[in-house]
Amino acid sequence: MRISEILKHKNRTLSFEFFPPKKIENEKTLFDTIEILKQYNPDFVSITYGAGGSTKEKTIDWTLKIKKDYNLNVMMHLTCISSTKESIDNIIETLNKNNIDNILALRGDLPNDNNINSMEFKYAYELVEYLKGKGDFSIGVAGYPEGHPESPSLEKDIEYLKMKIDAGGEFIITQLFFDNRYFFDFVERVEKSGIKAPIVAGIMPILNLSQIERFVDMCGSTIPESLTKKLENKSKEDMYKIGIEYATKQCIELIENNVKGLHFYTLNKHNATHDILKNLP
Ligand SMILES: Cc1cc2nc3c(=O)[nH]c(=O)nc-3n(C[C@H](O)[C@H](O)[C@H](O)COP(=O)(O)OP(=O)(O)OC[C@H]3O[C@@H](n4cnc5c(N)ncnc54)[C@H](O)[C@@H]3O)c2cc1C
Repeated sequence: MRISEILKHKNRTLSFEFFPPKKIENEKTLFDTIEILKQYNPDFVSITYGAGGSTKEKTIDWTLKIKKDYNLNVMMHLTCISSTKESIDNIIETLNKNNIDNILALRGDLPNDNNINSMEFKYAYELVEYLKGKGDFSIGVAGYPEGHPESPSLEKDIEYLKMKIDAGGEFIITQLFFDNRYFFDFVERVEKSGIKAPIVAGIMPILNLSQIERFVDMCGSTIPESLTKKLENKSKEDMYKIGIEYATKQCIELIENNVKGLHFYTLNKHNATHDILKNLP
């Protein structure tokens, strides 16, 4: 089912993001996670695409498997940097053949060595444009409450986001953030720019400070100093408790402010998402 339609008719959506496990032994964890989180009746689940298409086959396999075996509404992430139109065409054909309605159209991160094989797509808006001409997909795009790390300014970031929406993007899923003020400010700037697409908030609880610090460094998000202080030198168990409490409060405040959707970056584990969701209205 098209996510854009669901967003039109529901007050608030719930969704979960998974990544295709690299090792066979980790597949069971993902199966278990899906089985447990399925009880929350997600409006959709999404499957990430490895940098530069490195897990391309696995992403497609998991997208089809989750749709078929779990009867869940699926969105496949698709990145375009370094991809040829021919390789995108092959993927589109598979998605069309298997009635996959939803795609999150992304550029992908630039490779560390800047070794780009193809320049047929430079930015995500070009992929959105291309997909629109190739099938009746409901297309989502990425948004950055704190700005994309390569972006020259927050204003430019919104300008480029608008290009993705004008090209055919129908909804926005945000990068993770830990301070709701960034999200509320982002929503305001998006609306001021004339973008009408609904914005779904990306949520990731902090369960391991050093792991998240590495992660936020790459994606341009920040952790409030007060939260870092609370988490420092804590045992694994205490860190988990603080992380869940914080993310729960974050979600409650977003809900009170009429967020259009909550998208959980699950990292293929069910515990944290489950512990947050059981406390939400
Ligand atoms: C919800 C979500 C899911 C994600 N899933 C994945 C995934 O599955 N796999 C993966 O590899 N990565 C994923 N990413 C990360 C994403 O690929 C990176 O953040 C990437 O660096 C940017 O992708 P984009 O689609 O936002 O790119 P774009 O929108 O193309 O933006 C990239 C940069 O270029 C700038 N820009 C855009 N248009 C123009 C223009 N016309 N002229 C000049 N500058 C421009 C932007 O400001 C930005 O700095 C995800 C991110 C989010 C938020």
